[in-house]
Order: sequence, then structure tokens, then C-alpha cells
Amino acid sequence: MTAPVLQHQHRPEGDDGTSAWLVCDGCRRMIYSRRFARGGSVCPECGWHARLTAAQRIDLLLDADSVELLDTPVTAADPLHFIDTRPYTDRLRGARAATGMSEGVLVARGTIEGCPVVAAVMDFRFLGGSLGAAVGEAITLACEIALRERTPLLLVTASGGARMQEGALSLMQMAKTAQAIGQLDEAGILTVSLVTDPTFGGVAASFATLTDVIIAEPGARLGFAGARVIEQTIRQTLPPGFQTAEFLLEHGVVDLISPRAALRPTLGRLLSVATRRQAPAPATAAAAASPDGEAGGHGSAGVVRDPARLAERHPWEAVRLARRLGRPSALDYVGALVEDWTELHGDRAAADCPAMIAGLGRFDGMSVVVIGTQKGHTAAELAARAYGMPSPAGYRKAARVMRLAAKLGLPVITLIDTAGAHPGIEAEENAQAVAIAENLRLMAGLPVPVVAVVTGEGGSGGALALAVADRVLMCANAIYSVISPEGCAAILWKDPAAGPDAAAALRVDSRALLEAGIVDGVIPEPDGGADVDPLAAADALRAALAGTLADLVPLDPPTLVSGRRARFRRFGAPVPASASATTPSAATPAVPTLPAARPPMGQRSTADLDDVRQP
Ligand SMILES: [Zn+2]
Repeated sequence: MTAPVLQHQHRPEGDDGTSAWLVCDGCRRMIYSRRFARGGSVCPECGWHARLTAAQRIDLLLDADSVELLDTPVTAADPLHFIDTRPYTDRLRGARAATGMSEGVLVARGTIEGCPVVAAVMDFRFLGGSLGAAVGEAITLACEIALRERTPLLLVTASGGARMQEGALSLMQMAKTAQAIGQLDEAGILTVSLVTDPTFGGVAASFATLTDVIIAEPGARLGFAGARVIEQTIRQTLPPGFQTAEFLLEHGVVDLISPRAALRPTLGRLLSVATRRQAPAPATAAAAASPDGEAGGHGSAGVVRDPARLAERHPWEAVRLARRLGRPSALDYVGALVEDWTELHGDRAAADCPAMIAGLGRFDGMSVVVIGTQKGHTAAELAARAYGMPSPAGYRKAARVMRLAAKLGLPVITLIDTAGAHPGIEAEENAQAVAIAENLRLMAGLPVPVVAVVTGEGGSGGALALAVADRVLMCANAIYSVISPEGCAAILWKDPAAGPDAAAALRVDSRALLEAGIVDGVIPEPDGGADVDPLAAADALRAALAGTLADLVPLDPPTLVSGRRARFRRFGAPVPASASATTPSAATPAVPTLPAARPPMGQRSTADLDDVRQP
């Protein structure tokens, strides 16, 4: 695989101080070279990011005085005695002379904003950053050092692909580096890549894209095949921006794009959240451990557990309140409750769903993962967020971030407000049903605490795909239902206007669902609803989450998983004759039964559900 042709023949490195001006290859404007250098080799006019050497990159990213360059043995020989127009040994000698490097990557230990990291940084000047045996060896050694020292790994990539002159030995570096990243996954150590322009071929198809978080510089291109090869093969002109960071973000490949000037804070925030797991504050833990958690009322955990304490009202009233556009969204709650937030994007396969948000941050002093459906408050926002109805890519993004939480041992909080999974041709083409089903199974086995909160609408399987949790809570004015009342009315009543009747029959309101044990607790809302006083609503959510997490965090993974499985196993199971004699454990709250007149939801005839499927 050859290095793609350089689009920007920018040569600031040739500047020795005598030339005060240079021409930006992005906008062709004259730039004062000192200003350009001060900006990290970013054009102040158009934002074009020039390439950096590995040494410049380490200077830019790592804390001054923290850098310790690590020896990586040079194993690049000439195994094939390769000669094209020049012997490979000549090319190697030339690259060494031109760069002052023995090979195309530098490995360093250091800190970023105080957080320890092992970094491997590629240099495109060295034979196009090609992945020879020595480069593969250096990357692998960096992984092994990170593994041994249990330190996060940062890979900065810049490569045209494999190094042809080393033949199949070069190809094997892809497998070698991929398995090294896999070992870091098994050990629960954060891996991050910073994709710089260009990253192609064997590097793109191995370590560059196997990391937990992929950050790209603006405009950086990444792909398996180079644009020229693709154009020659398919004989079509490629769209503008093809394979750039912006294209990759839209297609679910990278998590975020960070301008060079923001890289250090971006990386520092991420490293600090992913490496410093703190237990909840003692006061919070003590409050949640107090035995009156089940006593009802606005207990110490801020959660109502006794349905009698909730106002009785017609469920349709809840439907109307739950759908109010002013209710806080998932991102509103994140803004109010989560510090050092990093939003992650993309399913690493095809797309980034705007109706699903996911990321890492600190809640109540503790590192957590937050995942939620996202609607919006205005018509424009709603349209941009697909009305809060996630696509399969949304559920797959959620799954990817949940697996990251499992890897890092971080609790998962989900915030649910969706009418349901997106219904559409594309969603079906991309296996919406499979995406939801896989989340149900994944969540049931997550080895970390999981708390789900229905904050608005909890619509059907699209909501449940985020709600297989140790504790399922809902806001007082939220609803949670197998189908929208209107949808149910249209099918069973043959009259969509019978929505209120359907809402009552389906018992979609928080009081009914608490009685049925579908939810474990109800979070009080300010008078008039969460939309009237979003800050008070956020405070109530904070109290509920803090208390619930303090309960769950001390539990070990097997206890969490068995408790979660038992929680969902009992829905619809026959009620033992001596049900009242069984003592529920703290990890597995009992499911209270409904009044005799109405059997618990799971024990009703499945004919209801069959009817739902009829056209
Ligand atoms: Zn420019």
C-alpha cells in the first residue's frame, strides 16, 4: 500500500527564522510564520492543521518536564533484500538522515494535565509513516508498557499504510498490534487514539481504530483504501470531504473532532475521568445505606417507593405532562449534574445517531458513563434529533459505550425519554430489532452498576433497550408503556381518539408502574412538572441517583448481575403460594403485587401483546 499523495506540501520545518512568511496550503494566504508556529502549526486564517513531527507532537501534548522517551529497539532490517528503483536500505538510511529518527515512531512516558499516559507517536516524514516491523514493534512495546504499568495508552497515528519493502512481515504487524490492544481491553486500561492526517491502510485497519476513544484533528483523513485507489477502481469522483474527520464523525467512525489547541484539555479530561474512579462521598453512602430506603416517602435516597404517597390521577394526565417540550432533556440533566463530560459519538460501523447521546464524566465525585435518548425543546432541535427516536446506530453506540463502562468498571446511568425506536425503512434495513435485542442481553450481563431513569416517555422496546438495570426509576410525571396509548387505541379500540381510555387500561403512569414493580422508585417532580423548574428537577434526579448508586457501587459484579437477572426473571413468573414469607434481599427488591382486581402486568394474557402485532 502506498502513501497517498500529499495534498499539502507545507514545509514550515524548512523555516530557519530567516523567512518571516509562509503560504498556507489550506487557503493559499500568506501567514506570518511565527504566528503560525505559535498556533501549533495551525493556519490562523482558515484553521488548516499542518503536519507535525513526532517530537513536536510530544511537546504539544505532554506536560513539559514530564516526558521520558523510551528506547524501542530498531528491528527494521531488510528481510526481503528489497530493491525497487532504490534499495530499501538506501531509503531507510535516507529517512534516518532526514528525520534524525531511527524509525517512524517515538514512544514516551509522561503526563497530560497531570494524568499519566504512555504515548506512541508516529512521524509521517519517516517513509510515509509506513508500518514496518520496527514501527509495529514500538507500538506493541508501548501497549505492553501501558499494560504492565496499568497506565492509559495514547496512540497518535500518521501513516500511509503497510511498508511494502518488508512484505508480509509488515502485514503481520497489524495482527500483532491488534492483539496488544486486545490485552489492554482485557486488563481494563483506557486506550485512546489521536488520528492525524493522513492515517490509512494497515494502520487505520489495526491499532488506530481499535481504541476506546478515537479523536481526530479537523480535516484529518482516515481510511482503508486511499482516495486515488478508490477513484481508479470505481471510476467515480468522490464527494468533497470524503474520508475527512468530519465525514468519519458523521459515519460513526470517530468519537470527536478536536482542534489542536483543545487537544490537551480534551485528553486531560478524558484521562482523569477514566483513570480516577472515586467512591461516592461518605455522607452520600451513609445516607443511602440507611435502612429506611424502603420506608416510602421522600426517603433519604430522594425516591418514593410507596405508591400510596403518589397522587392518584388519570393516566392520560401523565401522558400529557410527560410529552411537554419544556421537560429537561438528557443533555440538560448532564449539563446540570455531570462534570468533566466528554460526549462520545458513533457506532464504529455506519453512523452517529443524534437521538442517542453517550459519554463519560463525573457525577457526585464518581466517574460514570451516561447514556440517554435526546429529544429537544424546539421544532428545529426535534427534527435534528429525529424526535428522540433512536436508529439502530443509536442503540449500537449505546452498546459500545456500555461495553466501555464494563471495561473501565464505571457505573452506567441511562436517561430515557423516547416515544420509541425510530420506525423507518433505513432502521429496518439496519436491523433495528437486532440492535434492540442485543442491548437487552448486553445490559443483563453488564458487570457494573446500572441505573435507568425514565425521565419523560418510556416508549416500548426502544426504551427498554436502555432500561435493563439494577434499579429502574421514573420521574413522577413520566410514562412507561408497551405501546403508545394512541397506537393501542388504534389497534384495539379501532379509534385513535380512544388514547385516554387506552392510557388508563395500559396503566402507563408512575403510580401504577410502581405498584406493579415495573419500576423500583419514583422521583418527585417540582409542582407543575419538571419543565416548570428544571433546576429543581435536576436536584431531585441528583438525589435519587446519588442514593441509588451508593447502594449499588459496593456490590461486586456477580452480585449485581445475579440481582439484575432475578429482577427481570420474576416478571410473569408464577407467584409462590407463600410469597409473603419470602424475604427480599437488598440487591433484589421484591416486586409488590397489584390489588387482586387486576393481575400484575406480566401475568396478564399475552393476547394483549399478540393483538399489538396485528395490523
Ligand atoms: Zn489557511
